[in-house]
Amino acid sequence: MESKTQILLVISNLKLKKALESYIVSEFESVEIIKVSSFIEAKEVISFNPLIELAIVDFGLASGVLKMTQKAMIPTILLSKEGTLNTKEIVKKYNIIDYVSSKSHNFLRHVLFSMKRIIKHHDVNILVVDDSKLHLKTLTDILKEQRFSVFSARDGKEAFEMILEKKVDFSIVMTDYHMPKMDGLELTFEIRKLYGKDELSIIVLSVSNDWETITDFIRMGANDYITKPYTQIEVTTRLNANLEILDLFKKSKELANKDFLTGAYNRRYFFEVGENMLLKAKRADKKLALAMLDIDHFKKINDTYGHDVGDFALKKTVEIFKSNIRAFDLMARVGGEEFCILLEDISLEDTKIFLEKIRSIFEKNVFKALDCDISFTISIGVRYGLDENLDIMLKKADEQLYISKESGRNRVSMGEF
Ligand code: GH3
Ligand code: MG
Ligand code: MG
Repeated sequence: MESKTQILLVISNLKLKKALESYIVSEFESVEIIKVSSFIEAKEVISFNPLIELAIVDFGLASGVLKMTQKAMIPTILLSKEGTLNTKEIVKKYNIIDYVSSKSHNFLRHVLFSMKRIIKHHDVNILVVDDSKLHLKTLTDILKEQRFSVFSARDGKEAFEMILEKKVDFSIVMTDYHMPKMDGLELTFEIRKLYGKDELSIIVLSVSNDWETITDFIRMGANDYITKPYTQIEVTTRLNANLEILDLFKKSKELANKDFLTGAYNRRYFFEVGENMLLKAKRADKKLALAMLDIDHFKKINDTYGHDVGDFALKKTVEIFKSNIRAFDLMARVGGEEFCILLEDISLEDTKIFLEKIRSIFEKNVFKALDCDISFTISIGVRYGLDENLDIMLKKADEQLYISKESGRNRVSMGEF
């Protein structure tokens, strides 16, 4: 991951080039900027450098350079003159991902925003569904040019099977309407039974432009509708708007589910997901282990070193838990210095080994806090088995935690088996 993102600036105005460069460098940690000021230089750089991720091209140098960036499939931002007709013509012809006037007051911010999107696109999986090979290729090329991870299917049925397989986590499905086997409307219906609008966006692209079809799709759960033929800028603009909404959903979910200080899940989330894990375990007739973990004499840390060091200890504790649990275990901060870990598919013996290991990590380590060294231990109480609900399991784990505290702290109590 050490390689830098290469960005090509094709700008003749020296002042503008300098301003843009220093702004980009200050905002991105690992970018390398290649500056050129003529067609000849641009040609040389583009033909010898296959790793350019993005080009920013000045209107004055656009003719010629845009042909090259398009051929090399480099996403390009055009620095345009004030929304002239000419700009719109060029944008249409060359499939520019974005255009921004260098005269507009938020010009730099706009460029930066576009750049950030491009750099983020790698992680966005898009499924394109169309029975026309030509349409499939056209759209796939547009998306690949913007560095999205693109997958394709030739009809609704194939698409739905890919979604069911769950090998890839799709953020966006872009589907045609009329297709054999399963059409776009039915595909939308099937997808919405599984995924809400907070998880996956559906964008329809179709030649039908009658309001009945469009409203049918929207009512079925499609997020957006684009009529064919379309221009790249229209697809890009709508796509980015939909991605932005998905991002907002993700952020608000994090705010609702996570504890601000430590980034661990909160009590509410623990109960929501934990109850489901309990149901699943019951169905599979497998036992769960619920551990309550509490920092010993935490008040002393606060009193001795101050609240900031106390906060540090909490963050460190979460870090240690996170790096020791398995991907499917659930960990949450359920109180001030109290945490829960819910382990599934684990034997009584392995539960003991795992929690002893966690306990001893704290016992053995001294942590470098802000300007002091601190060490502390934790006490653990465990409920192993299956109870009627999570609340009861938590109460039983808490009883064991009390026993650990009463018998001298820094220990794991599991009760009799
Ligand atoms: P015991 O070994 O019996 O668990 O003793 P303790 O001191 O760890 O437990 P107690 O419940 O008496 O005190 C918990 C303290 O945790 C009291 C509270 O001020 C502190 N605390 C709760 N939340 C936070 C936080 O977010 N940051 C910091 N720094 N302290 C917190
Ligand atoms: Mg405590
Ligand atoms: Mg406590």
